[in-house]
Amino acid sequence: MLSSNLGTLYIVATPIGNLSDISSRAIETLKKVDFIAAEDTRHSKPLLHHFSIKTPLIAFHEYSKEKDIEHIMTLLQQSKSIALISDAGTPLISDPGFRLVRRARAENINVIPVPGACAAIAALSVSGLPSDRFIFEGFLPAKHNARVKYLENLQNESRTMIFYESPHRIIAMLEDMTTVFGQERQAVIARELTKMFETISDGSLVELLDEIKKNPEQQQGEFVVIIHGIDKTDEKLINDQDLKMLKILSQELPTKQAVSLVAKITGKKKNQLYKKAI
Ligand code: SAM
Repeated sequence: MLSSNLGTLYIVATPIGNLSDISSRAIETLKKVDFIAAEDTRHSKPLLHHFSIKTPLIAFHEYSKEKDIEHIMTLLQQSKSIALISDAGTPLISDPGFRLVRRARAENINVIPVPGACAAIAALSVSGLPSDRFIFEGFLPAKHNARVKYLENLQNESRTMIFYESPHRIIAMLEDMTTVFGQERQAVIARELTKMFETISDGSLVELLDEIKKNPEQQQGEFVVIIHGIDKTDEKLINDQDLKMLKILSQELPTKQAVSLVAKITGKKKNQLYKKAI
């Protein structure tokens, strides 16, 4: 039950590059609320200034402690209305806000979305990859070993996969994806969406990696990487017949040898067979 004595928390999307992408409802909301909770108040000032929004700002970032959430909750309980914004795009999408929204909902505060730009959705909409079912994976682990391990769990994912990446890791990320998903896996790199140097490239992972390695300017900016899911009818997928063979051979031979033989006979990937074997 929502109480009318409580304030409202608005979750307001802001542009991901092009200021014209802000909605008139977002501007109205940011003007009418009592406070704007911003991920980085310094970063948001130019945007707010551009639209003559003079609402007082409070800081609310990823590392905000319980006491910052407490402060916002107290304001909401005192009937103040608050708009949460992030540096760009939709708050909570690889951005802070989850704990605050969860808490506000638990305390019957009205939480209202003011939708708008989101890099993942903008990229998917132009990717030409299947968009009927997709998963958003956000940022991958920063370290190579953890990243490879994470990607291995997505090897058999059939839905389109959406990732975020920063310029200093884009090459390492594509290298690991090429190793785990295979050179021929189709992908799209959407770079600097809605900005001056917007580039949307598609091709196989190895083609995209070659291209980006050759062009240092293509390594700059913000990236969404979208990967085609695996085709479930793909012959490369391990089927029941393969599993049966693997089981029989594993009973007679060391796992490694059994895997190696099945890989030779069927042409299936050793690492995938090995996973099944253990
Ligand atoms: N909340 C944002 C959203 O709705 O998309 C995402 C915030 S996350 C901290 C920032 C990441 O989003 C960037 O590292 C990049 O991967 C992606 N991103 C944001 N703006 C982008 C743009 N204009 N073009 C491509 N990717 C972008």
